[in-house]
Amino acid sequence: MISNAAFTELRDLLKSDETERARDLLLSLQAGYFTLMEENRHLQLRVHTLEKLLGLDTGLTDKVHIRDKLVWLETDKGCKGPFCPVCLAADQSLIELEKDGPCLVCPSCEAEFAAEHEPQRERAVVLPFRKTCEKFGL
Ligand SMILES: [Zn+2]
Repeated sequence: MISNAAFTELRDLLKSDETERARDLLLSLQAGYFTLMEENRHLQLRVHTLEKLLGLDTGLTDKVHIRDKLVWLETDKGCKGPFCPVCLAADQSLIELEKDGPCLVCPSCEAEFAAEHEPQRERAVVLPFRKTCEKFGL
């Protein structure tokens, strides 16, 4: 497992001339690195596939809209988002903002935005039960 603690341990082992244990730890870190590289490659392929399926592989310009300083994506299933405008400007990434109390926060760059920009979702109409029963003669 690759972690900062493992690198600190490796440094300490090398400082104390415990080369055998340091070598074992280094080999373990190397194996973890290769695992992470493979996982990263797999995730990149998944993102590319999903972007292609959404028609985003040729560019975002015609489907992405900026409204109230936030990014929205037009899809066949309606307007999706909001997405982070900072990440879009940085590398064309569509990172969906997450609600955090009164704010919307980007899980990638941690930029915060006011949540009031979020569109009102359609809400179910709750009918009074008694009136509904009376209406239908129940
Ligand atoms: Zn972001």
